[in-house]
Amino acid sequence: MLSPAQIEDLKARVDLASLAEQLGAKLRRSGRHMMGSCPICGGGKRATRFEIKGSQWVCAVCGDGGDAIKLIQAVTGCDFPAAVDRLGGARPLTREEEAKIAAVRQRREAARQAEQERYRQKEIEAARLIYDRGRALQSGGAISRYFAARNCDGGPGLAPGLRGAADVPYFHGETVDHTGRKSPRVVHRGPALLSPVHDNDGAFIALHITWLKPDFSGKAEIVDPETGELLPAKKVRGSMGGGHIVVLGSRETPRRLFKGEGIETVYSVATALYRLGRLRPGDLFWSSVSLGNLGGRAICTVAHPTLKGPTGRPQRIPGPVPDLNPAIPSISIPASIEQLVLLGDGDSDPFLTTKTLERGRARYARDGLRIGIAMAEGGRDFNDMLEGSA
Ligand SMILES: [Zn+2]
Repeated sequence: MLSPAQIEDLKARVDLASLAEQLGAKLRRSGRHMMGSCPICGGGKRATRFEIKGSQWVCAVCGDGGDAIKLIQAVTGCDFPAAVDRLGGARPLTREEEAKIAAVRQRREAARQAEQERYRQKEIEAARLIYDRGRALQSGGAISRYFAARNCDGGPGLAPGLRGAADVPYFHGETVDHTGRKSPRVVHRGPALLSPVHDNDGAFIALHITWLKPDFSGKAEIVDPETGELLPAKKVRGSMGGGHIVVLGSRETPRRLFKGEGIETVYSVATALYRLGRLRPGDLFWSSVSLGNLGGRAICTVAHPTLKGPTGRPQRIPGPVPDLNPAIPSISIPASIEQLVLLGDGDSDPFLTTKTLERGRARYARDGLRIGIAMAEGGRDFNDMLEGSA
């Protein structure tokens, strides 16, 4: 049995970024952190969602994070002792060393938590400022043109919390002025859809921003001026763990909840139901912002049946068993809900999406709640699905 100090001592000898690269990650520096493709899930199109901050990693697609030992376990599927072995094994420590390491660890942990909380508050304030400058959506207004282009014209209308803004800057990387001072670099400005992210108590915890083309016919095409790489047209400011966006519906005694990853997917379903005359007053539509948030954290990863990771071994993705540790933020389902429909869209790998939905079903299972899973790609498919269902 290893002591916490021995584990700490072992991890202090590991360079997490090079370990992640050995395990198949492709990383680049972004400010103070390293980010890139995830050695566990690959990250697919969202290959910027794996990040290393000091001795911790986090992946927004996996919805998970941890230290070097947990990374090895998640990537290879091995157990704790095998992961410790791979890092070179623990060394015996004297009692003095033990005490010293434990003290340093405690101090660092307290400092890390304080720093994290400071950063979180700063991000929420920044998100709040952007949101406050937004304007309520008008029916038939500019934002509705974006949804019309996605086969959602004449839909039931979006929740009043969603706003539009004409000119939102998109920051990426940094610029250095002649004195050597660094500041965030604006690579794009334009109209955007602003969607507030709330926690289970209804507190504003983040802002989801979707940049749109000037004619609102789709998402903006934003290019990194240095690399020519196409950047994601969406960003989240704040911490979205356990948060959701109310796309449509009221919080008052909802009966049926449709929950999917993207705002567009969820609104497609609302529109399809509306057109079929099957939208009910107690219907609620939520976006979980990320796939990880949709199913919550998994207890462990499972091997993908066909995909190979960057080093040739089967790729591992978050499995179907939820981690129900209450300390990990996760979306909770209102008590009045009688039917929950978990929606999978076509944006991510189907196996990854299916396991995420299965994990959600296991997470939310309770008496008196019917849970269904629906996979679709865009509004038309959901229309078909709804026509075909009783
Ligand atoms: Zn991942």
